[in-house]
Amino acid sequence: MAGFDFDLFVIGAGSGGVRAARKAAGAGARVAIAEDDRFGGTCVIRGCVPKKLFVYAAQFAEAFQDSAGYGWSVDGAAFDWPTLVANKDVEIARLEAAYRAGLAKAGVELFEERAVLDGAHTIRLLNQDRMVSAERILIATGGRANPHRALKGHEHCITSKEAFDLERLPQSIVIEGGGYIAIEFAGIFNGLGVDTTILYRGKEILQRFDMDLRRLLHAEYENKGIKIRCHEIFTEIEKQADGRLKGTLSSGDTLEADAVMLAVGRLPNTENLGLETVGIDARPNGAIIVDDYSQTNVDHIWAIGDVTDRMQLTPVAIHEAMCLVDTLYHGRPTKPDYDKVATAVFSQPEIGTVGLSEDEAMHRFGNLDVYSSAFRPMKNTLAHRSERMLVKLVVDADSDRVLGAHVLGPAAGEMSQLLGIAVKMGATKADFDATMAVHPTAAEELVTFAEPLRRIRGGKAL
Ligand code: NDP
Repeated sequence: MAGFDFDLFVIGAGSGGVRAARKAAGAGARVAIAEDDRFGGTCVIRGCVPKKLFVYAAQFAEAFQDSAGYGWSVDGAAFDWPTLVANKDVEIARLEAAYRAGLAKAGVELFEERAVLDGAHTIRLLNQDRMVSAERILIATGGRANPHRALKGHEHCITSKEAFDLERLPQSIVIEGGGYIAIEFAGIFNGLGVDTTILYRGKEILQRFDMDLRRLLHAEYENKGIKIRCHEIFTEIEKQADGRLKGTLSSGDTLEADAVMLAVGRLPNTENLGLETVGIDARPNGAIIVDDYSQTNVDHIWAIGDVTDRMQLTPVAIHEAMCLVDTLYHGRPTKPDYDKVATAVFSQPEIGTVGLSEDEAMHRFGNLDVYSSAFRPMKNTLAHRSERMLVKLVVDADSDRVLGAHVLGPAAGEMSQLLGIAVKMGATKADFDATMAVHPTAAEELVTFAEPLRRIRGGKAL
Protein backbone atom coordinates (compact mmCIF):
# COMPACT_ATOMS: atom_id res chain seq x y z
CA MET A 1 0.00 0.00 0.00
CA ALA A 2 1.36 3.42 -0.93
CA GLY A 3 2.61 5.50 1.96
CA PHE A 4 4.17 2.64 3.92
CA ASP A 5 7.68 1.24 3.51
CA PHE A 6 6.26 -2.31 3.58
CA ASP A 7 2.92 -4.05 3.34
CA LEU A 8 3.92 -6.50 6.09
CA PHE A 9 6.70 -6.30 8.65
CA VAL A 10 7.40 -9.53 10.52
CA ILE A 11 9.28 -9.43 13.82
CA GLY A 12 10.98 -12.78 14.45
CA ALA A 13 12.37 -15.26 11.91
CA GLY A 14 11.38 -18.57 13.47
CA SER A 15 9.11 -21.19 11.95
CA GLY A 16 5.96 -19.05 12.07
CA GLY A 17 7.49 -15.72 11.06
CA VAL A 18 9.49 -17.11 8.16
CA ARG A 19 6.52 -19.00 6.74
CA ALA A 20 4.24 -15.95 6.99
CA ALA A 21 6.87 -13.69 5.39
CA ARG A 22 7.54 -16.05 2.49
CA LYS A 23 3.91 -16.78 1.76
CA ALA A 24 2.83 -13.14 2.03
CA ALA A 25 5.64 -12.14 -0.34
CA GLY A 26 4.54 -14.94 -2.66
CA ALA A 27 1.07 -13.38 -2.67
CA GLY A 28 2.56 -10.11 -3.90
CA ALA A 29 3.04 -8.22 -0.63
CA ARG A 30 6.16 -6.13 0.03
CA VAL A 31 7.51 -7.90 3.11
CA ALA A 32 10.35 -7.35 5.57
CA ILE A 33 11.47 -9.56 8.44
CA ALA A 34 13.70 -8.70 11.40
CA GLU A 35 15.62 -11.15 13.58
CA ASP A 36 18.10 -10.32 16.34
CA ASP A 37 19.39 -13.87 16.68
CA ARG A 38 19.94 -16.58 14.10
CA PHE A 39 17.39 -17.19 11.35
CA GLY A 40 15.33 -20.33 11.94
CA GLY A 41 14.20 -19.68 15.50
CA THR A 42 13.91 -22.13 18.36
CA CYS A 43 12.99 -25.16 16.25
CA VAL A 44 15.97 -25.00 13.91
CA ILE A 45 18.65 -23.41 16.07
CA ARG A 46 18.03 -24.65 19.61
CA GLY A 47 14.99 -26.93 19.59
CA CYS A 48 13.42 -29.66 17.48
CA VAL A 49 16.22 -30.10 14.95
CA PRO A 50 19.32 -30.31 17.18
CA LYS A 51 17.23 -32.27 19.71
CA LYS A 52 16.37 -34.94 17.14
CA LEU A 53 20.01 -35.15 16.04
CA PHE A 54 21.02 -35.69 19.67
CA VAL A 55 18.32 -38.34 20.06
CA TYR A 56 19.81 -40.20 17.10
CA ALA A 57 23.24 -39.91 18.71
CA ALA A 58 21.96 -41.33 21.99
CA GLN A 59 20.17 -44.25 20.30
CA PHE A 60 23.44 -45.73 19.04
CA ALA A 61 24.36 -46.89 22.56
CA GLU A 62 21.48 -49.38 22.67
CA ALA A 63 21.84 -50.21 18.98
CA PHE A 64 25.44 -51.31 19.59
CA GLN A 65 24.33 -53.42 22.58
CA ASP A 66 21.42 -54.95 20.65
CA SER A 67 23.55 -55.77 17.64
CA ALA A 68 25.34 -58.55 19.58
CA GLY A 69 22.18 -60.69 19.53
CA TYR A 70 22.16 -60.34 15.76
CA GLY A 71 25.72 -61.60 15.43
CA TRP A 72 27.62 -58.35 15.39
CA SER A 73 30.51 -57.41 17.60
CA VAL A 74 31.13 -53.74 17.95
CA ASP A 75 34.19 -53.65 20.12
CA GLY A 76 35.75 -50.39 21.17
CA ALA A 77 32.76 -48.21 20.31
CA ALA A 78 33.36 -44.79 21.83
CA PHE A 79 31.44 -41.54 21.88
CA ASP A 80 32.94 -38.09 21.41
CA TRP A 81 30.73 -35.18 22.51
CA PRO A 82 32.67 -32.37 20.76
CA THR A 83 32.30 -34.22 17.44
CA LEU A 84 28.54 -34.42 17.88
CA VAL A 85 28.27 -30.73 18.82
CA ALA A 86 30.47 -29.64 15.90
CA ASN A 87 28.60 -31.78 13.36
CA LYS A 88 25.28 -30.54 14.70
CA ASP A 89 26.53 -26.98 14.24
CA VAL A 90 27.36 -27.65 10.60
CA GLU A 91 23.87 -28.99 9.94
CA ILE A 92 22.20 -26.08 11.76
CA ALA A 93 24.29 -23.61 9.75
CA ARG A 94 23.17 -25.35 6.54
CA LEU A 95 19.52 -25.09 7.55
CA GLU A 96 19.88 -21.48 8.62
CA ALA A 97 21.36 -20.65 5.23
CA ALA A 98 18.42 -22.40 3.56
CA TYR A 99 15.99 -20.29 5.60
CA ARG A 100 17.73 -17.08 4.57
CA ALA A 101 17.90 -18.17 0.94
CA GLY A 102 14.18 -19.05 0.94
CA LEU A 103 13.30 -15.61 2.25
CA ALA A 104 15.58 -13.81 -0.18
CA LYS A 105 14.23 -15.85 -3.10
CA ALA A 106 10.70 -14.86 -2.13
CA GLY A 107 11.76 -11.21 -2.22
CA VAL A 108 11.58 -10.60 1.53
CA GLU A 109 13.88 -7.88 2.88
CA LEU A 110 15.98 -9.13 5.81
CA PHE A 111 16.96 -7.01 8.81
CA GLU A 112 19.49 -8.71 11.07
CA GLU A 113 18.81 -6.69 14.15
CA ARG A 114 16.32 -6.16 16.91
CA ALA A 115 13.04 -4.55 15.91
CA VAL A 116 10.55 -3.15 18.42
CA LEU A 117 7.10 -1.69 18.08
CA ASP A 118 6.80 2.07 18.08
CA GLY A 119 3.25 2.51 16.79
CA ALA A 120 0.44 0.63 15.07
CA HIS A 121 2.30 1.06 11.78
CA THR A 122 5.80 1.84 13.00
CA ILE A 123 8.80 -0.31 13.86
CA ARG A 124 12.08 0.89 15.29
CA LEU A 125 15.21 -0.93 14.11
CA LEU A 126 17.53 -0.66 17.07
CA ASN A 127 20.98 -1.11 15.48
CA GLN A 128 20.38 1.46 12.81
CA ASP A 129 18.18 3.58 15.08
CA ARG A 130 15.86 3.80 12.12
CA MET A 131 12.08 3.84 11.88
CA VAL A 132 10.25 1.91 9.19
CA SER A 133 6.54 1.81 8.51
CA ALA A 134 4.28 -1.04 7.51
CA GLU A 135 0.61 -1.38 6.70
CA ARG A 136 0.54 -4.51 8.86
CA ILE A 137 2.83 -5.87 11.56
CA LEU A 138 3.18 -9.52 12.59
CA ILE A 139 4.78 -10.43 15.91
CA ALA A 140 6.35 -13.90 15.78
CA THR A 141 9.07 -13.59 18.39
CA GLY A 142 8.59 -17.06 19.89
CA GLY A 143 9.61 -17.99 23.41
CA ARG A 144 12.57 -18.85 25.58
CA ALA A 145 13.26 -21.34 28.35
CA ASN A 146 11.89 -20.19 31.69
CA PRO A 147 15.00 -19.41 33.79
CA HIS A 148 12.98 -20.12 36.96
CA ARG A 149 14.19 -16.99 38.76
CA ALA A 150 12.19 -17.93 41.86
CA LEU A 151 14.66 -20.76 42.50
CA LYS A 152 17.60 -19.71 44.65
CA GLY A 153 20.74 -20.53 42.73
CA HIS A 154 18.97 -20.82 39.34
CA GLU A 155 21.93 -18.99 37.76
CA HIS A 156 24.06 -22.12 38.24
CA CYS A 157 21.66 -24.18 36.13
CA ILE A 158 21.39 -24.71 32.40
CA THR A 159 18.30 -24.87 30.20
CA SER A 160 17.76 -26.68 26.90
CA LYS A 161 19.39 -23.70 25.15
CA GLU A 162 22.79 -24.27 26.78
CA ALA A 163 22.47 -28.06 26.76
CA PHE A 164 23.11 -28.16 23.01
CA ASP A 165 26.52 -26.51 23.30
CA LEU A 166 28.06 -27.69 26.55
CA GLU A 167 31.83 -27.69 26.38
CA ARG A 168 31.97 -31.06 28.11
CA LEU A 169 29.39 -33.77 28.60
CA PRO A 170 28.62 -33.89 32.34
CA GLN A 171 29.02 -37.19 34.16
CA SER A 172 25.81 -36.59 36.04
CA ILE A 173 22.77 -34.36 35.57
CA VAL A 174 19.50 -33.64 37.35
CA ILE A 175 16.71 -32.34 35.15
CA GLU A 176 13.81 -30.53 36.80
CA GLY A 177 10.48 -30.79 34.98
CA GLY A 178 8.27 -33.54 33.66
CA GLY A 179 7.26 -32.17 30.25
CA TYR A 180 8.48 -32.73 26.69
CA ILE A 181 11.89 -31.14 27.17
CA ALA A 182 12.79 -32.78 30.48
CA ILE A 183 11.79 -36.21 29.22
CA GLU A 184 13.50 -35.89 25.85
CA PHE A 185 16.76 -34.61 27.34
CA ALA A 186 16.74 -37.29 30.04
CA GLY A 187 16.70 -39.89 27.25
CA ILE A 188 19.49 -38.10 25.40
CA PHE A 189 21.79 -37.70 28.39
CA ASN A 190 21.16 -41.21 29.64
CA GLY A 191 21.84 -42.65 26.19
CA LEU A 192 25.12 -40.78 26.05
CA GLY A 193 26.19 -42.33 29.33
CA VAL A 194 25.34 -39.53 31.76
CA ASP A 195 24.00 -40.49 35.20
CA THR A 196 20.53 -38.91 34.85
CA THR A 197 17.85 -37.98 37.38
CA ILE A 198 14.44 -36.40 36.67
CA LEU A 199 12.82 -34.30 39.36
CA TYR A 200 9.11 -33.73 38.81
CA ARG A 201 6.62 -31.86 40.99
CA GLY A 202 3.55 -33.89 39.94
CA LYS A 203 2.49 -37.46 40.52
CA GLU A 204 3.56 -38.81 37.12
CA ILE A 205 5.70 -37.45 34.27
CA LEU A 206 4.17 -36.01 31.06
CA GLN A 207 1.01 -34.64 32.57
CA ARG A 208 -0.94 -34.04 29.37
CA PHE A 209 -0.55 -37.57 27.99
CA ASP A 210 -2.43 -40.83 28.40
CA MET A 211 -1.74 -42.37 31.80
CA ASP A 212 -0.81 -45.81 30.40
CA LEU A 213 1.91 -44.21 28.26
CA ARG A 214 3.17 -42.16 31.19
CA ARG A 215 3.40 -45.17 33.50
CA LEU A 216 5.10 -47.40 30.95
CA LEU A 217 7.61 -44.73 29.90
CA HIS A 218 8.37 -44.12 33.58
CA ALA A 219 9.02 -47.84 34.08
CA GLU A 220 11.16 -48.16 30.94
CA TYR A 221 13.19 -45.08 31.88
CA GLU A 222 13.87 -46.60 35.28
CA ASN A 223 14.85 -49.88 33.60
CA LYS A 224 17.45 -47.93 31.66
CA GLY A 225 18.83 -46.46 34.87
CA ILE A 226 17.18 -43.02 34.80
CA LYS A 227 16.15 -42.07 38.31
CA ILE A 228 12.76 -40.37 38.58
CA ARG A 229 11.67 -38.53 41.70
CA CYS A 230 8.05 -37.35 41.60
CA HIS A 231 6.32 -34.98 44.05
CA GLU A 232 9.58 -33.05 44.49
CA ILE A 233 11.08 -29.74 43.46
CA PHE A 234 14.37 -28.00 44.06
CA THR A 235 14.29 -25.32 46.73
CA GLU A 236 17.91 -24.23 46.31
CA ILE A 237 20.93 -24.89 44.12
CA GLU A 238 24.43 -24.24 45.44
CA LYS A 239 27.70 -24.34 43.59
CA GLN A 240 30.37 -26.20 45.54
CA ALA A 241 34.09 -25.50 45.67
CA ASP A 242 34.80 -28.30 43.16
CA GLY A 243 32.32 -26.78 40.70
CA ARG A 244 29.70 -29.48 41.20
CA LEU A 245 26.16 -28.48 42.11
CA LYS A 246 24.24 -29.41 45.23
CA GLY A 247 20.48 -29.13 45.08
CA THR A 248 18.21 -29.12 48.10
CA LEU A 249 14.82 -30.70 47.52
CA SER A 250 11.41 -29.92 48.98
CA SER A 251 11.67 -33.17 50.95
CA GLY A 252 14.86 -31.92 52.58
CA ASP A 253 17.04 -34.42 50.69
CA THR A 254 19.98 -33.20 48.68
CA LEU A 255 21.23 -34.24 45.26
CA GLU A 256 24.67 -33.59 43.83
CA ALA A 257 25.43 -33.50 40.13
CA ASP A 258 27.79 -31.97 37.59
CA ALA A 259 24.88 -30.11 36.02
CA VAL A 260 21.29 -29.17 36.76
CA MET A 261 18.98 -28.50 33.85
CA LEU A 262 15.74 -26.58 34.29
CA ALA A 263 12.96 -27.63 31.91
CA VAL A 264 10.03 -25.98 33.62
CA GLY A 265 8.27 -24.52 30.61
CA ARG A 266 8.88 -21.62 28.26
CA LEU A 267 8.07 -17.91 28.37
CA PRO A 268 6.88 -15.74 25.47
CA ASN A 269 9.47 -13.32 24.10
CA THR A 270 7.69 -10.03 24.67
CA GLU A 271 10.05 -8.22 27.04
CA ASN A 272 10.95 -4.72 25.80
CA LEU A 273 9.14 -5.33 22.53
CA GLY A 274 7.06 -2.16 22.82
CA LEU A 275 3.74 -3.86 23.61
CA GLU A 276 2.94 -1.15 26.16
CA THR A 277 3.89 1.61 23.71
CA VAL A 278 1.19 0.52 21.29
CA GLY A 279 -1.23 -0.87 23.91
CA ILE A 280 -1.18 -4.57 23.00
CA ASP A 281 -2.90 -6.76 25.60
CA ALA A 282 -0.86 -9.61 27.06
CA ARG A 283 -1.39 -12.25 29.72
CA PRO A 284 0.53 -12.11 33.03
CA ASN A 285 3.19 -14.46 31.57
CA GLY A 286 3.75 -12.02 28.68
CA ALA A 287 1.84 -14.02 26.05
CA ILE A 288 0.13 -11.80 23.49
CA ILE A 289 -3.64 -12.15 23.49
CA VAL A 290 -5.10 -12.68 20.01
CA ASP A 291 -8.52 -13.44 18.57
CA ASP A 292 -9.46 -16.50 16.50
CA TYR A 293 -7.70 -14.98 13.48
CA SER A 294 -4.45 -14.21 15.36
CA GLN A 295 -5.21 -10.48 15.55
CA THR A 296 -4.18 -8.52 18.64
CA ASN A 297 -6.46 -5.93 20.20
CA VAL A 298 -4.59 -3.27 18.19
CA ASP A 299 -5.67 -2.77 14.58
CA HIS A 300 -3.02 -3.69 11.99
CA ILE A 301 -1.02 -5.92 14.40
CA TRP A 302 -1.18 -9.72 14.53
CA ALA A 303 0.77 -12.38 16.47
CA ILE A 304 1.41 -16.07 15.85
CA GLY A 305 3.44 -18.93 17.30
CA ASP A 306 4.83 -19.43 20.80
CA VAL A 307 4.60 -15.72 21.61
CA THR A 308 0.83 -16.24 21.85
CA ASP A 309 1.20 -19.38 23.99
CA ARG A 310 -1.71 -21.16 22.33
CA MET A 311 -0.13 -24.50 21.44
CA GLN A 312 3.68 -24.44 21.57
CA LEU A 313 4.45 -26.64 18.58
CA THR A 314 6.36 -25.78 15.39
CA PRO A 315 3.76 -27.18 12.96
CA VAL A 316 1.08 -25.20 14.80
CA ALA A 317 3.03 -21.94 14.37
CA ILE A 318 3.42 -22.73 10.66
CA HIS A 319 -0.29 -23.51 10.38
CA GLU A 320 -1.14 -20.21 12.10
CA ALA A 321 1.10 -18.43 9.58
CA MET A 322 -0.63 -20.09 6.62
CA CYS A 323 -4.07 -19.24 8.02
CA LEU A 324 -3.01 -15.63 8.52
CA VAL A 325 -1.74 -15.26 4.96
CA ASP A 326 -5.00 -16.78 3.69
CA THR A 327 -6.92 -14.29 5.83
CA LEU A 328 -4.89 -11.19 4.93
CA TYR A 329 -3.70 -11.79 1.38
CA HIS A 330 -6.00 -14.32 -0.25
CA GLY A 331 -9.38 -13.02 0.91
CA ARG A 332 -10.11 -16.26 2.79
CA PRO A 333 -10.59 -15.55 6.50
CA THR A 334 -9.23 -18.72 8.13
CA LYS A 335 -9.06 -19.69 11.79
CA PRO A 336 -6.27 -22.02 12.89
CA ASP A 337 -7.60 -25.47 13.76
CA TYR A 338 -6.28 -26.88 17.04
CA ASP A 339 -8.45 -29.99 17.10
CA LYS A 340 -6.77 -33.43 17.13
CA VAL A 341 -3.20 -32.25 16.70
CA ALA A 342 -0.89 -35.27 16.55
CA THR A 343 2.31 -34.93 18.53
CA ALA A 344 5.41 -36.91 19.40
CA VAL A 345 7.72 -36.94 22.39
CA PHE A 346 11.19 -38.08 21.34
CA SER A 347 11.79 -40.00 24.49
CA GLN A 348 13.47 -43.40 24.19
CA PRO A 349 11.19 -45.29 23.58
CA GLU A 350 9.29 -42.51 21.85
CA ILE A 351 5.66 -41.46 22.13
CA GLY A 352 3.26 -40.70 19.31
CA THR A 353 -0.25 -39.64 20.10
CA VAL A 354 -3.35 -37.98 18.70
CA GLY A 355 -6.70 -37.15 20.22
CA LEU A 356 -7.96 -37.70 23.73
CA SER A 357 -6.30 -39.58 26.54
CA GLU A 358 -8.49 -42.19 28.24
CA ASP A 359 -9.07 -39.84 31.21
CA GLU A 360 -10.05 -36.89 29.01
CA ALA A 361 -12.33 -39.10 26.92
CA MET A 362 -13.97 -40.47 30.06
CA HIS A 363 -14.82 -36.96 31.24
CA ARG A 364 -16.18 -35.90 27.88
CA PHE A 365 -17.91 -39.05 26.66
CA GLY A 366 -18.54 -41.51 29.47
CA ASN A 367 -19.08 -44.67 27.38
CA LEU A 368 -15.77 -45.97 26.10
CA ASP A 369 -14.18 -49.11 24.79
CA VAL A 370 -10.45 -49.09 25.47
CA TYR A 371 -8.23 -51.31 23.37
CA SER A 372 -4.67 -51.65 24.56
CA SER A 373 -1.78 -53.99 24.09
CA ALA A 374 1.70 -53.96 25.65
CA PHE A 375 4.23 -56.27 24.08
CA ARG A 376 7.90 -56.71 23.29
CA PRO A 377 8.61 -55.44 19.77
CA MET A 378 10.16 -58.09 17.52
CA LYS A 379 13.52 -56.35 17.27
CA ASN A 380 13.97 -56.69 21.02
CA THR A 381 13.72 -60.51 20.94
CA LEU A 382 17.15 -61.42 19.57
CA ALA A 383 18.53 -58.34 21.27
CA HIS A 384 17.37 -59.81 24.62
CA ARG A 385 15.97 -56.41 25.51
CA SER A 386 12.94 -56.49 27.79
CA GLU A 387 11.64 -53.06 26.73
CA ARG A 388 7.94 -53.13 25.91
CA MET A 389 5.80 -51.22 23.46
CA LEU A 390 2.27 -49.94 24.04
CA VAL A 391 -0.45 -49.46 21.44
CA LYS A 392 -3.80 -48.10 22.55
CA LEU A 393 -7.09 -46.93 21.05
CA VAL A 394 -9.75 -45.06 22.99
CA VAL A 395 -13.10 -45.54 21.27
CA ASP A 396 -16.46 -43.85 21.87
CA ALA A 397 -18.70 -46.85 22.54
CA ASP A 398 -21.80 -45.01 21.29
CA SER A 399 -20.53 -43.82 17.90
CA ASP A 400 -17.59 -46.27 17.46
CA ARG A 401 -15.40 -43.22 16.67
CA VAL A 402 -11.72 -43.44 17.63
CA LEU A 403 -11.22 -40.56 20.06
CA GLY A 404 -7.56 -41.15 20.83
CA ALA A 405 -4.69 -43.24 19.47
CA HIS A 406 -1.57 -43.63 21.58
CA VAL A 407 1.70 -45.41 20.86
CA LEU A 408 4.86 -45.83 22.92
CA GLY A 409 7.68 -47.56 21.12
CA PRO A 410 9.93 -47.49 18.05
CA ALA A 411 8.67 -45.17 15.28
CA ALA A 412 5.72 -44.00 17.41
CA GLY A 413 6.22 -40.43 16.16
CA GLU A 414 6.02 -41.56 12.54
CA MET A 415 2.90 -43.61 13.32
CA SER A 416 1.20 -40.65 15.01
CA GLN A 417 1.45 -38.61 11.82
CA LEU A 418 -0.56 -41.23 9.92
CA LEU A 419 -2.90 -42.00 12.80
CA GLY A 420 -3.52 -38.24 12.87
CA ILE A 421 -5.11 -38.42 9.42
CA ALA A 422 -7.47 -41.24 10.35
CA VAL A 423 -8.48 -39.78 13.71
CA LYS A 424 -8.91 -36.29 12.25
CA MET A 425 -11.17 -37.74 9.53
CA GLY A 426 -13.35 -39.27 12.24
CA ALA A 427 -12.39 -42.89 11.60
CA THR A 428 -14.31 -45.51 13.58
CA LYS A 429 -12.95 -48.66 15.16
CA ALA A 430 -14.73 -50.51 12.30
CA ASP A 431 -12.66 -48.45 9.80
CA PHE A 432 -9.48 -49.51 11.59
CA ASP A 433 -10.66 -53.14 11.56
CA ALA A 434 -11.47 -52.95 7.84
CA THR A 435 -7.88 -51.95 7.12
CA MET A 436 -5.62 -54.84 6.16
CA ALA A 437 -2.71 -55.36 8.54
CA VAL A 438 0.86 -54.78 7.38
CA HIS A 439 2.84 -57.76 8.60
CA PRO A 440 5.12 -58.09 10.46
CA THR A 441 4.95 -54.62 12.00
CA ALA A 442 4.11 -53.30 15.43
CA ALA A 443 1.54 -50.94 13.91
CA GLU A 444 -0.59 -53.89 12.79
CA GLU A 445 -1.78 -54.12 16.40
CA LEU A 446 -3.80 -50.98 15.66
CA VAL A 447 -6.00 -52.77 13.15
CA THR A 448 -6.21 -56.20 14.79
CA PHE A 449 -7.64 -55.44 18.24
CA ALA A 450 -10.45 -57.93 18.90
CA GLU A 451 -11.80 -57.34 22.41
CA PRO A 452 -11.57 -54.18 24.48
CA LEU A 453 -9.25 -54.38 27.48
CA ARG A 454 -11.72 -52.20 29.39
CA ARG A 455 -15.32 -51.19 28.88
CA ILE A 456 -16.32 -47.94 30.54
CA ARG A 457 -19.98 -47.06 30.90
CA GLY A 458 -21.31 -43.89 32.49
CA GLY A 459 -17.76 -42.96 33.44
CA LYS A 460 -17.18 -46.21 35.35
CA ALA A 461 -15.11 -49.25 34.38
CA LEU A 462 -17.30 -52.37 34.06
P1 NDP B 1 6.07 -28.36 29.39
O1 NDP B 1 4.98 -27.41 29.63
O2 NDP B 1 5.85 -29.53 28.50
O3 NDP B 1 6.61 -28.91 30.78
C1 NDP B 1 7.01 -28.07 31.81
C2 NDP B 1 7.26 -28.93 33.02
O4 NDP B 1 7.77 -28.13 34.07
C3 NDP B 1 5.97 -29.58 33.54
O5 NDP B 1 6.30 -30.88 33.93
C4 NDP B 1 5.63 -28.70 34.73
O6 NDP B 1 4.93 -29.39 35.72
C5 NDP B 1 6.99 -28.31 35.23
N1 NDP B 1 7.00 -27.03 35.95
C6 NDP B 1 6.43 -25.86 35.56
N2 NDP B 1 6.69 -24.90 36.47
C7 NDP B 1 7.41 -25.47 37.44
C8 NDP B 1 7.98 -25.01 38.66
N3 NDP B 1 7.83 -23.74 39.05
N4 NDP B 1 8.68 -25.88 39.41
C9 NDP B 1 8.83 -27.16 39.04
N5 NDP B 1 8.32 -27.66 37.90
C10 NDP B 1 7.62 -26.83 37.12
O7 NDP B 1 7.29 -27.45 28.90
P2 NDP B 1 8.68 -27.82 28.29
O8 NDP B 1 9.60 -26.78 28.80
O9 NDP B 1 9.04 -29.24 28.50
O10 NDP B 1 8.42 -27.58 26.75
C11 NDP B 1 7.85 -26.35 26.29
C12 NDP B 1 6.95 -26.59 25.13
O11 NDP B 1 7.72 -26.86 23.99
C13 NDP B 1 6.03 -27.79 25.30
O12 NDP B 1 4.81 -27.40 25.85
C14 NDP B 1 5.88 -28.33 23.92
O13 NDP B 1 4.67 -27.85 23.39
C15 NDP B 1 7.06 -27.79 23.16
N6 NDP B 1 7.98 -28.90 22.83
C16 NDP B 1 7.57 -29.82 21.95
C17 NDP B 1 8.38 -30.88 21.63
C18 NDP B 1 7.91 -31.91 20.66
O14 NDP B 1 6.97 -31.64 19.92
N7 NDP B 1 8.49 -33.10 20.65
C19 NDP B 1 9.70 -31.04 22.21
C20 NDP B 1 10.03 -30.01 23.16
C21 NDP B 1 9.18 -28.99 23.44
P3 NDP B 1 3.35 -29.72 35.59
O15 NDP B 1 3.26 -30.91 34.68
O16 NDP B 1 2.96 -30.03 36.99
O17 NDP B 1 2.69 -28.51 35.05
